[in-house]
Amino acid sequence: MKQLNQSLEARITELLDDPTQQDNPLREPLGSLWANHQDLARRIDRISHISDAYQSMAKLQEQSLTERLNKQLRQLEKVARISDRYQNMMRDLNEALREASTHDSLTGLANRRLLVERLKKETERFIRYQRPFSIAMLDVDHFKSINDQYGHELGDSALTEIARVLDAEIREQDLCGRWGGEEFLILMPETRADAAAQVLERVRGAIQRLAIRAQTDSVSITISAGIAEHQPGESYSETINQADHALLVAKRGGRNQLSTARTSLTD
Ligand code: GH3
Ligand code: MG
Ligand code: MG
Repeated sequence: MKQLNQSLEARITELLDDPTQQDNPLREPLGSLWANHQDLARRIDRISHISDAYQSMAKLQEQSLTERLNKQLRQLEKVARISDRYQNMMRDLNEALREASTHDSLTGLANRRLLVERLKKETERFIRYQRPFSIAMLDVDHFKSINDQYGHELGDSALTEIARVLDAEIREQDLCGRWGGEEFLILMPETRADAAAQVLERVRGAIQRLAIRAQTDSVSITISAGIAEHQPGESYSETINQADHALLVAKRGGRNQLSTARTSLTD
């Protein structure tokens, strides 16, 4: 095709340049047509140049846009990963903080704050639905002499062991916490004093069987407990006072025993 065009071009140029064709009537219109053709060819050439340039520019832009998008995507993925890690960290930290604010660090049991929170809830339930609950105040017998004889560190591990037994012996619905020092409180929802005494008798026996290793010795430990069932019109602190009173009676009675506070005003 190109060859054909070239030979056509060569023939037309030859014709227009041929002096013998000066008087040919077709020479003048052919000359105009030829000039027109050349003008058109130049324009088409220019347009295709522009189009080529535009296309390669568009391609370049598309490439750099894709690259930029990919880079931004990679950055976003990185940010998302960091944010995930940060959120997990915050969740763990919150969990640890919540645990630390509601649990005792030595024994892992509920601390006084959590116990009071649950005692308030149980008192509300009692007022609204008259659901009974009982509490037991436990105190390790002669604990000071264990510390004195075997050291504070052994005292600490004895408390941890006691806590483990308490946690294992209470029922699913009960909550046992460290009230302070060597004193523990067990909150027993839906439980009247007599049923609470049965739970505590089991706990007392399990603690008595616990043998704590100290160098070559095996130290036995006992607890005394005071039980009180919450009474109508009473605050939870008053119920605790009743349990404390009963605990004192158990101590005075010779330790390693339970005592139940006056159970019901109608008894
Ligand atoms: P009782 O039978 O009358 O309860 O006698 P006790 O010796 O247990 O009572 P006392 O109140 O005289 O002593 C309690 C001891 O408990 C004194 C204190 O040093 C010890 N204690 C309290 N908290 C801890 C603790 O976290 N770790 C250790 N190792 N000892 C503790
Ligand atoms: Mg005490
Ligand atoms: Mg004690």
